[in-house]
Amino acid sequence: MISGIKPMLSFELRRNPRIAARPENFDNFIPEGYDGVLIISADFELAWAWRYAKKLTNPKEEAEQYARQARRNIPLILDLCEQYNIPVTWATVGHLFLDRCDRKEGGLPHPELKRLAHFENNFWKFEGSDWFEHDPCTSVEENDAWYAPDLIRKIIDSPVGHEIGCHTFSHIDCRDGVCPEAILRDELRACQEAAGRFGIQLESFIFPGHTLGNFKTLKECGYTAIRTNYANVIGYPEMDEYGLWRFPVTAEMTMNPRLSKKYNVYRFQKIIELTLKHRAVANYWFHPSLPGEDIPELFENLFRFINKYRDRLWIGTMKDYTKHLNEHCLA
Ligand SMILES: [Zn+2]
Ligand SMILES: [Zn+2]
Repeated sequence: MISGIKPMLSFELRRNPRIAARPENFDNFIPEGYDGVLIISADFELAWAWRYAKKLTNPKEEAEQYARQARRNIPLILDLCEQYNIPVTWATVGHLFLDRCDRKEGGLPHPELKRLAHFENNFWKFEGSDWFEHDPCTSVEENDAWYAPDLIRKIIDSPVGHEIGCHTFSHIDCRDGVCPEAILRDELRACQEAAGRFGIQLESFIFPGHTLGNFKTLKECGYTAIRTNYANVIGYPEMDEYGLWRFPVTAEMTMNPRLSKKYNVYRFQKIIELTLKHRAVANYWFHPSLPGEDIPELFENLFRFINKYRDRLWIGTMKDYTKHLNEHCLA
């Protein structure tokens, strides 16, 4: 466990996550009668996230394996959310709303969407022939790694009150300089069109691969809240100069292999206690494709723990919390 000393120390010394300074009106951030806030979001992407991942040797095949893992996990996660009444903001890749798509003879998939040029970032390298080159252009029955109307329906139908948020249509890099405004506008239009068929109005946005940018366009396209990852903090959202509420992340919900399982669970539980003690906001996030054993060993343990603090901890979606922020935290 030597290699685990570093993450353990940075947690014990409150460096990761650190505890942010309180804004003057910090009490307004906590809904009345509560001592802290918890937001949980999921990056719901199936195969789309991993197509150009630099760490994979056969990205397309491995992307589809991640998708299968996510498909196994999501119903189990939804069951736990229901059992402990915990709503999640599912930032969903827009293509997953589709039950099918096709390729006009000799043409490209989704010809109405402008494409990214070749680029590289910390996680991905795109040098393929077309941004949609992996799109099977079939249907959910034939390729359920690329379409997921069935899972979206399951999320919407859950009595817990989950939110469906946006994660772009095809999991693009959103940074200024990589993503021209017109491309993001096309992607967001396609997302809302597809989500609209489920009666969903998209309002919260999570950047694929932490590629933050194009804030002004997001605001102009109707988004109200985004997740940021400048540092892991137990802190407070901030409204940026574009009028978007920025929700800083606190921790990714997954077992850190450098730490014992017991310490992992302790760490996530302790963060909840610190959040309550400091009257602040915790913002957990996860990839639904995480290892299957994390669900009983981490999610179930943590959800059970969270549920014990139900009376003191306000738990909600990004959209619901944004409503609170707009009503109580604007200067
Ligand atoms: Zn398609
Ligand atoms: Zn993603």
